Amino acid sequence: MMVTGGSRGIGAATARMAGARGYHVCVNYHRNPAAAEAVVADVEALGGGAIAVAGNMAEPDDVDRLFAACDERLGPLSVLVNNAGVITTAARVDEMTADRINALLAVNVTGCFLVAKAAIRRMSSRYGGSGGTIVNLSSAAARLGGAGSLVDYAASKGAIDTFTVGLAQEVAAEGIRVNALRPGLIETDIHDDTGLPNRLSELGKTVPMKRTGTADEVAEAILWLAGPQSSYITGAILDVGGGR
Ligand code: NAP
Repeated sequence: MMVTGGSRGIGAATARMAGARGYHVCVNYHRNPAAAEAVVADVEALGGGAIAVAGNMAEPDDVDRLFAACDERLGPLSVLVNNAGVITTAARVDEMTADRINALLAVNVTGCFLVAKAAIRRMSSRYGGSGGTIVNLSSAAARLGGAGSLVDYAASKGAIDTFTVGLAQEVAAEGIRVNALRPGLIETDIHDDTGLPNRLSELGKTVPMKRTGTADEVAEAILWLAGPQSSYITGAILDVGGGR
């Protein structure tokens, strides 16, 4: 299994849980090797196998290097968790610069395409592969819109919803299932990057279930969509947001 952005938050929870359940996990990270190595150590302590590999998923050469390392050290890939994603300081659309928008889309949209492409070239029967599953990380923001603060982020996740539906149909007959998850407000560091203090605690009260979610609650759903229990599901988008 490969988890992009597996060093922290939802990706790290997914990598740890997958390792505990017998997957060999490639933990990709961008800037934080210590966090990635800590995830690897946790997986190993649980009796599993994992490797940490650096790479910015917005950079095609880094994506190629990541997959080459995974091929060499873990063997054939059967699951991709397309998780790496970023959010930016809260701003209105009329305040956003082209550089800001392009930098966000490069990771959240182009990066997801590049990583899925590399996985398909390994998994698809079209290339001699034996199939697999891809789980893309969207967001409840794709439905809600992010007005006043995060419309660029929300729109990038809207693109992931559409990407999931189209890609699922494209590779369905080649042994690959593609699904997405739309997490709601999940307790990770990503919210700090909005610059909005208390974002999680304040918005958590507005969720129908009256609380934020944990990375482990999302990881459970990711592993279900990645595994054989969901064998007849492709092109689906699962909300994991406490009713929101
Ligand atoms: P997070 O805690 O901020 O962790 C982000 C992870 O992605 C880190 O491992 C980070 O690596 C990695 N990363 C960032 N930019 C990268 C890049 N260019 N290339 C490769 N890796 C990169 O985020 P999170 O909350 O777990 O979010 C994970 C995914 O879920 C994202 O796609 C996010 O949009 C989505 N999501 C999150 C929430 C939420 O409430 N948390 C809700 C909806 C959707 P480093 O450690 O090296 O920086």
